[in-house]
Amino acid sequence: VETDTGKAADGVSAVIPGWFSEISPMWPGEAHSLKIEKILFQGKSDYQDVMVFQSSTYGKVLVLDGVIQLTERDECAYQEMITHLPLCSIPNPTKVLVIGGGDGGVLREVARYSSIEQIDICEIDKMVVDVSKQFFPAVAVGYEDPRVTLHVGDGVAFLKAVPAGTYDAVIVDSSDPIGPAQELFEKPFFQTVANALRPGGVVCTQAESIWLHMHIIEDIVANCRQIFKGSVNYAWTTVPTYPSGVIGFMLCSTEGPAVDFKHPVNPIDANDSQKSRPLKFYNSEIHTAAFCLPSFAKKVIDAK
Ligand code: SAM
Repeated sequence: VETDTGKAADGVSAVIPGWFSEISPMWPGEAHSLKIEKILFQGKSDYQDVMVFQSSTYGKVLVLDGVIQLTERDECAYQEMITHLPLCSIPNPTKVLVIGGGDGGVLREVARYSSIEQIDICEIDKMVVDVSKQFFPAVAVGYEDPRVTLHVGDGVAFLKAVPAGTYDAVIVDSSDPIGPAQELFEKPFFQTVANALRPGGVVCTQAESIWLHMHIIEDIVANCRQIFKGSVNYAWTTVPTYPSGVIGFMLCSTEGPAVDFKHPVNPIDANDSQKSRPLKFYNSEIHTAAFCLPSFAKKVIDAK
């Protein structure tokens, strides 16, 4: 029987020597493992443990507080979907805010839209920004866009100070609801997001796994229904190195011009300003398909 420390009851380590195993109370009884070739960085910021290692099959890997945040091989799935699901759903976005996302991958994807004039990012941990620039240049390239302004601080406080109706879109690229990201999953935060969006503005948040966190998702959907009077939708995609191999997204819009998230009006795969670095994962078909849910999830998410 395995104990919470990830050690088998007889004291034999459940972690295979030379492998990283993602043991967490957020997914009890299971752990995804990656073979380590070399540990490249280990540090402790004011907010979390930060580690980078070279894996044998997924390239370099960023880990925060023992949880895999991204790998070079499959980060495209997450960064492209969390960005293009909202931004392809509104015509001509001009002002976008990213909360979290310190690795720069979402910035890289937002920068594809020539209509965008201002990209703000509020990331709480400068160590994540610095480590990403050092070890993940193809991800942190997003910081090189002149439209980007980095604010180092808590996204909760940042949103409270944003004037009403400032942004066309807010993307909440947060870690999980334990540690510094906890408040980014709570109702007061969603209220400040709605306040910061223009009428018909959109928000996309990282919304966990339907296989592991239906209880968290149920609460988030209920809170969003009370706050976002445009539309409330849940989409999902595959990211092999996330727990259960999938990740979901809440996609909501404020009252105002109707937003039909399921049929992109602004298809980036047709007018990408960065043809030199083509999309690896997102396209308009997978956009629409992302909103098709298995019955056990539909029952909870679509329940009025
Ligand atoms: N973009 C990554 C990926 O491809 O999966 C994963 C998420 S990103 C690394 C999550 C970021 O949210 C981290 O850099 C973390 O420091 C940041 N974060 C957590 N809580 C925060 C808060 N309250 N305000 C701002 N940033 C926060």
